[in-house]
Amino acid sequence: MTAQVIKKVVIAGGGTAGWCAAAGLSRLMGPLLDITLIESADIGIIGVGEATIPTIRTFHALINVDEQDFMKATNGTFKLGIDFENWARDGDHYFHSFGVTGKAPWMAPFHNLWLEARAQGFGGSFDDYSLELQAARAGKFQIHKNLPLSYAYQFDAGLYGKYLRKLSEATGVKRIEDNITGVDQNPETGFITALILASGEVVEGDLFIDCTGFRGLLIEQTLKAGWEDWGHWLPTDRALAVQTRSDKPIKPSTRVIAHGEGWRWRIPLQTRVGNGLIYSSAYLSDEEAEERLRTLLDEPMVAEPRLVKYKTGRRKTFWDKNCIAMGLSSSFVEPLESTSIHLFQRSVLHLVQNFPFFGVTDALAAHYNDLSLQELEYARDFVILHYKLNQRPETFWKDRAAMAVPDDLQARIDLFRESGVAFQGPGELFRVDSWAQVMFGQRLEPRGWHRFGAFMNREELTGVFDGLKKTVDHFVAQMTPHDAFIKQYCPTTVER
Ligand SMILES: Cc1cc2nc3c(=O)[nH]c(=O)nc-3n(C[C@H](O)[C@H](O)[C@H](O)COP(=O)(O)OP(=O)(O)OC[C@H]3O[C@@H](n4cnc5c(N)ncnc54)[C@H](O)[C@@H]3O)c2cc1C
Repeated sequence: MTAQVIKKVVIAGGGTAGWCAAAGLSRLMGPLLDITLIESADIGIIGVGEATIPTIRTFHALINVDEQDFMKATNGTFKLGIDFENWARDGDHYFHSFGVTGKAPWMAPFHNLWLEARAQGFGGSFDDYSLELQAARAGKFQIHKNLPLSYAYQFDAGLYGKYLRKLSEATGVKRIEDNITGVDQNPETGFITALILASGEVVEGDLFIDCTGFRGLLIEQTLKAGWEDWGHWLPTDRALAVQTRSDKPIKPSTRVIAHGEGWRWRIPLQTRVGNGLIYSSAYLSDEEAEERLRTLLDEPMVAEPRLVKYKTGRRKTFWDKNCIAMGLSSSFVEPLESTSIHLFQRSVLHLVQNFPFFGVTDALAAHYNDLSLQELEYARDFVILHYKLNQRPETFWKDRAAMAVPDDLQARIDLFRESGVAFQGPGELFRVDSWAQVMFGQRLEPRGWHRFGAFMNREELTGVFDGLKKTVDHFVAQMTPHDAFIKQYCPTTVER
């Protein structure tokens, strides 16, 4: 039998991406690998990724995470979607829910039926037919086998890393705390052979995973993969992050509220709230941003705001030679739709499915790069959509409305505007329901739609909508307030 060539995996960086890679690889392929993770206490982590999307539950199920244990340890709350305020215009309000809206036959999605009803003067609000949306608005939540909610989590990023570290170390991951000061390469192939640490220790490996954040110590500083900048589509580049007290009932959703030069987030955890002001430094100074953040916060701050600088874009190659970049070292879309943790958890799973046991080949790396790029570009386009479709009066927003967007996205916008068709591409994260909710929310009005609703008479059609709404209302009425559910199911073990 041919011998396994790649066995020693070295993960550079212990932020959320590094520990997700360590937990994923060790728990899914542990006996076949020898995994070391190096992290630096001096450099620390970015520590702002606190909102997720439902696919995190698939990752957790695969690596056997106990939900209650994880929620207690990370100050976690549940998330049924994202509440958008002031996005298309000041005063607008829409919700991107994680669930399915309504019910439809195979012919076309539900929003077509709703458009048909609306044209006939009834059908209510599109929001009435999403269980997750109505539950979030009512501040309710439940986990029950007869009530399959599509949900994600909000948690403390630092505590999540620690939790994954515990799981990883229990499955044999070796952790070294030190600074990486040098990288050894094979002079002929350019493959990385070892990382040199400040202590003088040399950590050899067969495969290196770069999770060193935006600096991209291996993928960029060593291998010079190159960076494709997306600043012309997604020009925000700064966040002022701050924690506040938690004085209000804890809603199972993230709030994102547009302001004149960007937007701000509010992510409720069990004992505190994470807040941040996202802006573009080309349109707003740091001083103005801080002043704005202080006036907009709903609750008193428990620490001073922290400035985080970032850039949107991607490495031109994610897997180069025997190095794979994951997390911020590989790409960043911008945090609006909480796609970052999802994307690197997908990277871990792609690597597990395409692991180079018998050596790195160009074909394997190219396949991995293609898969990753397609998923990333879908997520990028979905986020750009929110910026492009706005009618706000400020220069920042007018510039976004006027910008040329990627061709595929423009084609999707035109398709929906002309015919009401929305679709989920192969391997794409966001479903038709997500595209429809955001397009409607951003005031994109379709000129046409599929007329399968016209096969029913008015009475039948009204019956369908009434029945759907009654079902949603009935289930929401049965649910528990989110706070009370958390207290009973997963009270935090984090000290207040
Ligand atoms: C403003 C903002 C808000 C965000 N919000 C969300 C969100 O809500 N949801 C979401 O999914 N994502 C979000 N993200 C993205 C998310 O924060 C990151 O994807 C996630 O934290 C992963 O970061 P990372 O592990 O790649 O990098 P980092 O957290 O920067 O970790 C880098 C690691 O590399 C180590 N390191 C670096 N250099 C060296 C060296 N020389 N020697 C040794 N170790 C080294 C560091 O010590 C650290 O451990 C947000 C990002 C930003 C900027």
